[in-house]
Amino acid sequence: MNSSDVVYLLMPDRFSNGDRSNDTVEGMLEQTNRQNPDGRHGGDIAGIAKHIDYIADMGFTALWANPLLENNMPEKSYHGYAITDYYTIDPRFGTNSDYRNLVGLAHEKGLKVIMDMVFNHCGTNHWLVRDLPMDDWVNQWDTFTRSNYRIEVKTDPYASDYDLKLMGKGWFDVTMADLNQKNPYVWKYLVQNSIWWIEFAGIDGIRMDAYPYTDREAMSEWAMTIRKLYPSFTILGEIWLQKSSHTAYWQDNERNMDDYRSNIPAVTDFRTHYAVIEALSEKEGWTQGLRRLYYVLSQDFLYNNPENLLVFPDNHDLNRYYTSLNEDFDKYKLGLAFLLTTRGIPQIYYGTEILMTGEEHKGHGYIRQDFPGGWEGDTIDAFNGTGLNEDQEEAQRFVQKLLTWRQKTPAIHNGKLIHFIPEDDVYVYFRTTNSQSVMVILNKNEEDILVDMRRYREGLNGFSSAIDVISSEKITNLDQIFVQGMSPLILELSGND
Ligand code: CA
Repeated sequence: MNSSDVVYLLMPDRFSNGDRSNDTVEGMLEQTNRQNPDGRHGGDIAGIAKHIDYIADMGFTALWANPLLENNMPEKSYHGYAITDYYTIDPRFGTNSDYRNLVGLAHEKGLKVIMDMVFNHCGTNHWLVRDLPMDDWVNQWDTFTRSNYRIEVKTDPYASDYDLKLMGKGWFDVTMADLNQKNPYVWKYLVQNSIWWIEFAGIDGIRMDAYPYTDREAMSEWAMTIRKLYPSFTILGEIWLQKSSHTAYWQDNERNMDDYRSNIPAVTDFRTHYAVIEALSEKEGWTQGLRRLYYVLSQDFLYNNPENLLVFPDNHDLNRYYTSLNEDFDKYKLGLAFLLTTRGIPQIYYGTEILMTGEEHKGHGYIRQDFPGGWEGDTIDAFNGTGLNEDQEEAQRFVQKLLTWRQKTPAIHNGKLIHFIPEDDVYVYFRTTNSQSVMVILNKNEEDILVDMRRYREGLNGFSSAIDVISSEKITNLDQIFVQGMSPLILELSGND
């Protein structure tokens, strides 16, 4: 996976119920109950397979499903992050063969598959936790002790042992036993498990949950081992941090002061996520509003490879993007236009393409609601458009148009990025290769504007006309460019003199 890709992230229990016969499985501690926001809703692998064409036709090129491995826990088992068997797909999602077939089907449709994996912790119902092979298989405490969740201590030159121990060895949750990756048997178990899934299912990458919570040396060895065996295999680390400086440490980086190298090529870029929401919510100021976007990108010197940053409007742990923007459709389009044309690998969370809403503080069930059309009897079906309102239809078309155009536009994949300090609530940047140039104008003014191009001429590369990517209209005068109020304009330049 690389910056030519766009990832569709979906929560399997909440996307589509393609097989009602696995809604109830004897021996599993939790059964389907759609009335419970934190319960299982019945979505499964069959549902993903049934709608794989929808994902491919929207223009996505990679699929990341939240964990599908067995979570035989008494409650909240739907999200998949308390694994109770690393070798078995949860029977309420399907079988190991179903998963392998899904990967094959995805490949036929041109989609790469990223498997969500959790090595920091496992469900306390895992048989290896219930019957520990050795005491230090998991990090032990006298009484339940929670992590302080302060990843920053791991890179802090002044960190206390107290904080460090709590961070790395404290448990993520009462139901999640903290695995001790430093134990060589645990380490080997995890390495072999990754190799097994790569060989069995033919996956293209692993997204590693909560990467900095693990033993960083042991997991660096894990990543190096996998990359040596499979040089083109994708490893994406979840690095949930507020600052670019902290995040950059965890992307394989030969310039860390302590010489630590994670061996993780791709990491999540939460800083850019926050910047997008801030940029669209705040009034403009010296470092505020659209200038947030300028400032975040201006710090890319910190990264080993900024193109390998996963950028996203939201995900399964955050407020829904549309909710973060107070359901302002103009801002929705401005932010997506940015994320789909700036550097990095964009990731879109299922339902964001149809303006799904939800607030994280109400409970995670509210940001992981059922995708309309995924269940028999749904009155709204977003897969075929039935019952969507006008804004939802337009949002879906907008995302599809940008994604399908992005697929065949190398300038967006790896073209040089040139941007200009935002002025007068307008942010302008270019993506250019030797043969292609794309200009993006984000207009945050309520009013329509005419952009005087004298300031931006260096990005034009000698081109004299352009196609408006969203409307498909041709623009022949590049001296002054008209942009509607609160709108993005994406121009593919053409007509070399
Ligand atoms: Ca089902």
